[in-house]
Amino acid sequence: MTIAAIIVAAGRGTRMGEGLPKQWRDLGGQPVLAHSLRAFAGLRRILVIHPEDRARAAALGIAGVELVEGGATRDASVRAALAYLEGSDVTAVLIHDGARPLVSAACIARVVAALDQFSGAAPALAVTDALWTGGAGLVTGTRDRSGLYRAQTPQGFRFPEILAAHRAHPGGAADDVEVARAAGLDVAIVEGEEENIKLTFPGDFARALRHLQGRMDIRLGNGYDVHAFTEGDHVWLCGVKIPHTAGLLGHSDADVALHALADAIYGALAEGDIGRHFPPSEPEWRGKASAHFLRHAVDLAAARGYRIGNVDVTIIAERPRVGPHVAAMQAVLAPILGIAADRISVKATTSEKLGFVGREEGIEAFASALLIAG
Ligand code: MG
Repeated sequence: MTIAAIIVAAGRGTRMGEGLPKQWRDLGGQPVLAHSLRAFAGLRRILVIHPEDRARAAALGIAGVELVEGGATRDASVRAALAYLEGSDVTAVLIHDGARPLVSAACIARVVAALDQFSGAAPALAVTDALWTGGAGLVTGTRDRSGLYRAQTPQGFRFPEILAAHRAHPGGAADDVEVARAAGLDVAIVEGEEENIKLTFPGDFARALRHLQGRMDIRLGNGYDVHAFTEGDHVWLCGVKIPHTAGLLGHSDADVALHALADAIYGALAEGDIGRHFPPSEPEWRGKASAHFLRHAVDLAAARGYRIGNVDVTIIAERPRVGPHVAAMQAVLAPILGIAADRISVKATTSEKLGFVGREEGIEAFASALLIAG
């Protein structure tokens, strides 16, 4: 099954009052949509936007997101995305409200799993509150809540079926399940989540923020590297060129500290090391600035929904002295890592003349990196 996530975000959110449409408003330091998109990291992601929101979408800075302009109604927006995917290798789609930023990976996985058996699947919660009818401030009756569900998204469908269902539908459906059912498709109910709320009213933002702050998904990685000295007149350490009486031997620029740091980030993602992503057998990487590897590791983290919390690098060398260059190293690393210099530690030590470092045969480096989701 090749799955694409369609994030529907073309609405103007009139119930939220004046100002920015709700999906573009800030939630914990980022637009709501940044959270919604990250929830589907690893899948092909189609973001359906209002034509006026192109610049906002570009400013999200989430790599690999494809933009499609939506229509005047939700149906029309979904149809535009489905038409965009027609003829691709996509076999199933997950259609998600852009204003549901807290959907979990587990919820998405339940929808996907159900598509093995059914043409459609969607999360929902059984109604547990008593249901009333009311008028003029008074309760006018009660309703039986048995068999009633509160529908959520993502609503998942096999692609050809939902494309045909949308094309056959006259319009005006509340959601894609309604469209699917009108075409006779079976839609399985999978377990929804209380926190998978749709931001609708201003108070929903405070609630969503509390959920967000209650989540703690952090990942720790470490990296280690050694490079031997060879003839030369400088070494590269943490992206800074330092004059020395020798150089470091290596395929790239032999920046042992940057290699350890990139490996720490790959490690936190359980993504192996630099060698896996940039095989030394490929001549393309000869003499390459190691910042390229670090950038790749940071981009991979971002694609998985993680940002860098802090890093700590230790360089072990008898010579050259590293201390005077630490501020320059922080200045090089900060924009690549996307964090401030006070979250970037570069320490140096000698090995007290012991071992290969002590004999000045090479330099070694250790690094740790903390990755934070969201
Ligand atoms: Mg190396």
